[in-house]
This record gives sequence, structure tokens and C-alpha cells, in this order.
Amino acid sequence: MIIDGKKQSAILREEIKKEISELKKKINKSPNLTVILIGNFEPSQIYVKNKELISREVGINSNVIRYPKEVKEHEIIEKINELNNDKEVSGILVQLPLPRQINKEKIINAIHPSKDVDGFNPVHVGNLSSGYNAIVPCTPLGCLMLIKTVEKKLTGKHAVIIGRSNLNGKPMAQLLLKENCSVTIVHSKTKNLKKECLRADILIVAVGVANLVREDMVKEDSIVIDVGINKYGDKIVGDVNFDEVKNKVKAITPVPGGVGPMTIACLLKNTLDCFKAHLT
Ligand code: NAP
Repeated sequence: MIIDGKKQSAILREEIKKEISELKKKINKSPNLTVILIGNFEPSQIYVKNKELISREVGINSNVIRYPKEVKEHEIIEKINELNNDKEVSGILVQLPLPRQINKEKIINAIHPSKDVDGFNPVHVGNLSSGYNAIVPCTPLGCLMLIKTVEKKLTGKHAVIIGRSNLNGKPMAQLLLKENCSVTIVHSKTKNLKKECLRADILIVAVGVANLVREDMVKEDSIVIDVGINKYGDKIVGDVNFDEVKNKVKAITPVPGGVGPMTIACLLKNTLDCFKAHLT
């Protein structure tokens, strides 16, 4: 089975759109997502443009504040403080990567947790790892939703995550622990990657190496979620060799059309959740 991320994303966006429209009727207010974009790195320009368009489609007001790549760190922090105090702003997102002179940790910490739609602030990281309510980073949240389209109950499953980034691997592990999975995280220093992968009922691959996972590394009947986005010749491919693996496993996400569209839908969900939290 091929997990259709585009379809699942469309379903979630439709639900979000409906909820926003109902809230608008009741309170005459809509969520606002403010994005800070620094420099002219082309992929970031494209991501931000997409986020803006898709936000508007569901009724989220989105605006982008642009800075040249030489901007000073304190200017960004001052802007974030201003947005933190602006009642019209429900969510703040600073598009990564940042230029060298700007410290990512300081920027992440500057965004008030109640407006941190990426869920990167240590308050959310701590809450998630304690099993409390948190804004969950969009990509792992989307991965979990996709897994659940295949299996509703994950209790007792063995999940293996390749990659230990703060963005993907670590929050993914916390989410799956909360679902009562046994979780193994592997990374570039893991001794026998293949052996670990072969234990996975659920395999999540978030590395950034094209075709890292081959047919002989996956178990029949497993669910494979491919987070990777890699340029391979003139194509975009994931971290899993899709053609080899797709006929062996129970379910797999394609790249493109798998995790990517769900990540964007989850950003909208997080923005709506931040908006609703500010209403109470
Ligand atoms: P990252 O911060 O570079 O982390 C990559 C992880 O992979 C690290 O933990 C690294 O291990 C591990 N790794 C590298 N080479 C390995 C190997 N040969 N075997 C096993 N593990 C290896 O990357 P990221 O930000 O998590 O992103 C991962 C991928 O997901 C990228 O392709 C990115 O573009 C993509 N992505 C997709 C979406 C989406 O919406 N679909 C969203 C975000 C990211 P060490 O820790 O030991 O270095």
C-alpha cells in the first residue's frame, strides 16, 4: 500500500478550513501566521511562498517579514518580541536555515511558546518528552498521522527511527513512546544499521541520504515512512529506495507526495491550535 500524503493533507486542511470558518462566524476573528524570512536562499523562498498560499486557502492570514541576509541578530529578536506582544499574531515562524551571524538557539528561545508553531521551543520539547500537552514539530506530527492511516493502534510495535535530529528523529521518538511503541533511534555512528532496521514494525527514515534504505533492510509487513528530501539527478527522491521497497512492505510513503504535504498541513493545525489557545 502506498500512503497518499497529498490526500491525507487535503483531508486535514479541509477540517482546519471548516473549523476556522466556524470560529470566524462566532467571534469574527481568524488566525494569523507571521513568517520571518532572512536572505534569499531559494528553497526557503519557495517554502515560504507555499506556506503563505496554503495558509490563505484555509483562512489563515499570513504575512511575511523579509530581511536581507546581513541583518543583525538583535533586530530579529526585537521583531520577535514585538510579534510576541501583538494580539493579532497567533503564530510566529522563523524560516530556517539562518545566516551565520544569527544564533538559531537564541531565535528559537525568543519566540513565545504560545506562538511557536514549529514546536521547537524547549518548553514544548520538555512537555513532549514528559508526555504532556505540547506543540509538536510539524514533520513528526504528520508522520504519526500517516502511520495511523494504516494502523490505528500502535501499542507494542517496535519503531526504529533513523536520524536523531531535534527537528525529526527525537520528537518522533517521543510521539511513538506516547503511543506505547518500543523505540530505537539509530544514527550515523550506529554499528549495524541493517540489523536494527530489520527489527522495525515501523521504520521512520529522516537522514538526507538518497536510497540509504534498500530492500534487504526492511521487514515484510512493516510500515515505512520516508522523511528524506534529496536531489538525485533531476529528480527529488527520499532516503528509501522506493521502487525496491514498495512491494515488500505493508505500507510506504512516496517522495514527493508523502510526508511533505502532511508537514504543511500540520503547520496549519499548529497555527490554529495556537490561535485557539489565545482565545481562552
Ligand atoms: P539532520 O539534522 O541532518 O539529521 C540527519 C540524521 O541522520 C542525523 O542524526 C545523522 O546522524 C543521521 N545520519 C546521517 N547519515 C547517516 C547514515 N549513513 N546512517 C544512519 N544515520 C545517518 O537532518 P534533518 O533535519 O532531520 O532532515 C533529514 C531529512 O529530512 C533531510 O533530507 C531533510 O531535507 C528532510 N526533511 C523533510 C521534511 C518534510 O517535510 N518531508 C521536513 C524536514 C526535513 P548523526 O546525528 O550521527 O550525525
